[in-house]
Amino acid sequence: MEEFPTFVTHLECSYTGKIYPADQLHGLSEAGKPLLVRYDLDALSKAVNKEDLIGRLPELWRYREFLPVRRSENVMRLGELMTPLLPANKLQEEYGCGEILIKDEGRLPTGSFKARGLTMAVSMAKELGVECMAMPTNGNAGAALAAYCSRANIDTYVFCPEDTPRVNVEEIAFQGAKTFLANGFINDCGRIVGEGKETMGWFDTSTLKEPYRIEGKKTMGLELAEQLGWEVPDVILYPTGGGTGLIGMWKAFDELEAIGWIGSKRPRMVAVQADGCAPIVKAFEEGTRHAELWQDAHTIAAGIRVPAAVGDFLILDAVRDSGGFAVAVSDKAINDAHQHCAKTEGILLCPEGAATLAALKQELANGRIKKDEKVLLFNCATGLKYPMVSDHYTIDLNQPIDYDFIRACD
Ligand SMILES: *Cc1c(COP(=O)(O)O)cnc(C)c1O
Repeated sequence: MEEFPTFVTHLECSYTGKIYPADQLHGLSEAGKPLLVRYDLDALSKAVNKEDLIGRLPELWRYREFLPVRRSENVMRLGELMTPLLPANKLQEEYGCGEILIKDEGRLPTGSFKARGLTMAVSMAKELGVECMAMPTNGNAGAALAAYCSRANIDTYVFCPEDTPRVNVEEIAFQGAKTFLANGFINDCGRIVGEGKETMGWFDTSTLKEPYRIEGKKTMGLELAEQLGWEVPDVILYPTGGGTGLIGMWKAFDELEAIGWIGSKRPRMVAVQADGCAPIVKAFEEGTRHAELWQDAHTIAAGIRVPAAVGDFLILDAVRDSGGFAVAVSDKAINDAHQHCAKTEGILLCPEGAATLAALKQELANGRIKKDEKVLLFNCATGLKYPMVSDHYTIDLNQPIDYDFIRACD
């Protein structure tokens, strides 16, 4: 069995800098903050160069030197293919702005970019001998966890807010997780996992409460830099719930610069939230490093309905260091963008992806995004998982076919 050449040296508390040994099971640091995986970047840069990537499969594991899994037999694969960057030329023309690219993450296994984080977390859990994983989820993370755990023979318990999209609840249960609906929010479901993990023997796989989901999400930054010829866009709009992707991409850019694959230019990172649940936006505007719990969270974009994020300071630090900002959009603007993108570009976004388009439109209008900036939007999941309001008509085949009626329909 092929060994992966890995360069992990240790883990580090993202808040205090305290060092933890690699190759052991870890949750949060003693300070209760996320742990980040650190690599010997010097050795890494000697072991691989950009050209080596060219001959590898177009999938997430092409970046294996940047990833923590040591033994290839532990890698749980479901086909984590590179996702396309789709130009949105008609929207660009309509808004009179710079290039718009949409990274379509809906092509990944289980239909969302949660697969990136969970393929890594579950592979590492396998490597470290975990037998049972548990998590709170608004839907997509649970689906990815269920799928990878079934493949890895790991038992799974998943807790969802009772109004989690039905298709997510069904796919989680269908893919083998023990699935529970609870009358609260994702942070309430997180409490079930946190308080029960000792008694139940669970490994807590909540967002940022284990170190490896970030490493999986980091591949979004590696991949888009490679796709853009080792350049970064001017602005990245990221629909932000727990913020794993934003934090992961930020880490990827640092690692790439450290080994000289990209320069010091960074994209401006824009955290997009819904105005019914915008704790990061509030903290950004108030100039604080941590966000307060958001009361009565509501939005149609379930993936970003996260009232409290453990990595709040990591999101806010990245947004501020990059010269970006955090912004909220309304559900109405999300719905309009969702429909508009499908009809003009033929790209079926998820509501969270539509939130980034709504934010782009809003921020071009008020000038926080400049008309000459190259912008990257994230579509995090396949639009097919979500309700679509549509107009259609019925035909009674027991009657003569009425083409005048068909012509009159629009
Ligand atoms: C999880 C999720 C998000 C938020 O991603 P984070 O990296 O946790 O902030 C956005 N959209 C969808 C569809 C999601 O499933």
